[in-house]
Amino acid sequence: MKILDGKQTSNDIKDELAEKVLQLKQAGKRPPHLAAVLVGNDGASLTYVGSKVRSCEKIGFDSTLIRLEETISEDELLDQIDKLNNDETLDGFIVQLPLPKHIDEEKVLMAVDPEKDVDGFHPANFGKMALDMEAFIPATPFGIMELLRRYKLDISGKHAVVIGRSHIVGRPMSILLSQKGNPGNATVTLTHSRTQNLAKITRSADVVVSALGVPNFLKADMVKDGAIIIDVGITRVPDENHPKGYVITGDVDYEAVKEKSSYITPVPGGVGPMTIAMLLQNTYLAYSRKHL
Ligand code: NAD
Repeated sequence: MKILDGKQTSNDIKDELAEKVLQLKQAGKRPPHLAAVLVGNDGASLTYVGSKVRSCEKIGFDSTLIRLEETISEDELLDQIDKLNNDETLDGFIVQLPLPKHIDEEKVLMAVDPEKDVDGFHPANFGKMALDMEAFIPATPFGIMELLRRYKLDISGKHAVVIGRSHIVGRPMSILLSQKGNPGNATVTLTHSRTQNLAKITRSADVVVSALGVPNFLKADMVKDGAIIIDVGITRVPDENHPKGYVITGDVDYEAVKEKSSYITPVPGGVGPMTIAMLLQNTYLAYSRKHL
């Protein structure tokens, strides 16, 4: 078993981006600029946005965090997005999900200028991705593809099973794994909460991408020997013995499954850091489209 080290790989990507920023600055140009909009005070969202902003600072990107009250109206949020769309000093921005219940998430995502949609959630980007056109690819599946690429894992013709059909992970993941290219060319099964005999399906998988958000869901008897296991799950499981009062737990029963797998991503230190690195990569792409 080998670990797919997302922390190390994301650091490599960040170092590469930091080098590019240095060159831009030496040439007298401004660095790429990412903004993050955070509505309300959700603990997990605060953590995610905080690490995105810190990562920008670390590699020399400009970053702006826009914090808005939980009670903000949908119209006010849409006004804010309009401002960001028209801000020439900004290359890309994200609206951290989930949004409060009174705000229509779909309306908000549709309001983001596709040219600045570095999360790749706008239908224009999603559609382009599905049609193999250049697009901003959602950072989590993009990060998984990049991890497979950098570890030179050949999945061509292999059976890849994705668990979960969310718009931000499972669905785009299934598209990317099946696309022509390397990595890609996999035969993909997209499974979800209504799937019957899931264990039978995962047992036939050469690659499993688990993105359902149920701690330790994928057990050793659900995977075949030598499979590549990608764990997207991030769940805070209460733990009194931990200073934070919880531990971050993946979807995969790691200790047991790692013995059967050929490659596996740990949680934390696997897909999570790759997601942030690819958001930065998308921001650099947005910048370079306009300025390079
Ligand atoms: P979601 O919560 O929107 O949807 C979960 C999906 O799992 C659904 O499509 C559902 O059909 C499927 N599902 C639920 N129970 C199932 C079952 N018993 N069998 C098969 N499928 C089942 O999903 P999401 O937003 O993609 O998040 C999934 C997990 O990934 C969460 O833990 C989330 O925190 C994590 N996540 C991690 C990152 C990262 O950077 N590592 C990024 C995004 C999400």
